[in-house]
Amino acid sequence: MNAPADGVVLNGPPREHPDVTADFAWWWDGISAGEIRVQRCADCGVTRHPPHVRCIQCGSFNYTWNTAGERGRVYSYVTYHHPQLPGFTYPYTVGTIEVAPGIRVVAPMWPNDGTGISVDGDVVVAWTTDMSGAPWPYYTPVVAR
Ligand SMILES: [Zn+2]
Repeated sequence: MNAPADGVVLNGPPREHPDVTADFAWWWDGISAGEIRVQRCADCGVTRHPPHVRCIQCGSFNYTWNTAGERGRVYSYVTYHHPQLPGFTYPYTVGTIEVAPGIRVVAPMWPNDGTGISVDGDVVVAWTTDMSGAPWPYYTPVVAR
């Protein structure tokens, strides 16, 4: 699998686990469960991300959480070289990943230098951990067999 070797740092030093507020608990609850969650209207079935109080299609307040799945497609990405800020390892790559039609999440990518990553390329979610040992997702290209 295309993954960092043990001890290799993904996009800089190990991250501190963020303070989880009620506004983002849905995301971190999913991450803790090893899932990329997206909101789905319980009445009309429209999927949306980030979540909204009401459905943008039918106005319903009813929703469920769905798992986006492990695969995605690179909508865009950037490999940062400059400016170099303290606390990060350069280069590092961040992508916008389409996990379902029209549903995109922003996440770190591996390898850090962007090798093998391309727009429209297939990617798969993988997991590393933050400083607290909690899961932290990143995406990496699907390697052809
Ligand atoms: Zn709806």
